[in-house]
Amino acid sequence: MRRMLAAPLLALSLVLHPGPAAALSQEEVMAGAARLYRERMEELRVSRRLDADRAFHERVLRIAGPLIARAARDWPETARWDWEIHTTPDGDDHAYAMAGGKLLVSRAHARELELSDAELAMVLAHEIAHAALRHNLLEYEEAVRLEPAWAARPFAELEHAVDHDTGLMRKLAPLGILQEQEADREGMLLAWRAGWPALALARYFQKAARASSSPNFEQFAHPSPSSRWQAARELAATLP
Ligand SMILES: [Zn+2]
Repeated sequence: MRRMLAAPLLALSLVLHPGPAAALSQEEVMAGAARLYRERMEELRVSRRLDADRAFHERVLRIAGPLIARAARDWPETARWDWEIHTTPDGDDHAYAMAGGKLLVSRAHARELELSDAELAMVLAHEIAHAALRHNLLEYEEAVRLEPAWAARPFAELEHAVDHDTGLMRKLAPLGILQEQEADREGMLLAWRAGWPALALARYFQKAARASSSPNFEQFAHPSPSSRWQAARELAATLP
């Protein structure tokens, strides 16, 4: 997901990750994500916005635990990951997941939509699915395919570009939409296998579409809220 980073962090990244983007591995992507996540969490900690609402944080951890345990069965690779979940009172992203299971969840989004536990489980399962499906690695690989010059440049530059280079971001938008749809679908299935009723999960997308000021188009790299609600409703109808 998209985070704004201060420029000096890019210079540091280049020192830590001198390797070319041509030979990307999940391990390298996870190491880069862990570093960016640490930096972002430290910013939140310094501004007293890291896990500031203890009740909300504990609620998120309580709901996420069984979902991560279920993901370990469905995607065995994820059982070895050092999952981390933090919360923040506000945040420009509703929630995001970075490679290797590094999550951040915004209380503002949960409050705005008055999310039930099932709806919050849907948000978390969507993010867990992004990580489990290696969406970051696939995005970097697609960027190198679209712009082969990236293969010879340091990975840290590509890591920065997918969040800041609007030309590249627009080219990646079709993949981004597919990844959102996949995370919606696989996330709902994950949470359903973990025991949540499918229709209660799907209600998250109904609330999000109702709350959206433009339900038929919101972001260029995301499917529209109304199409997500329709897909969730249709999938839920197939699950007992
Ligand atoms: Zn997503």
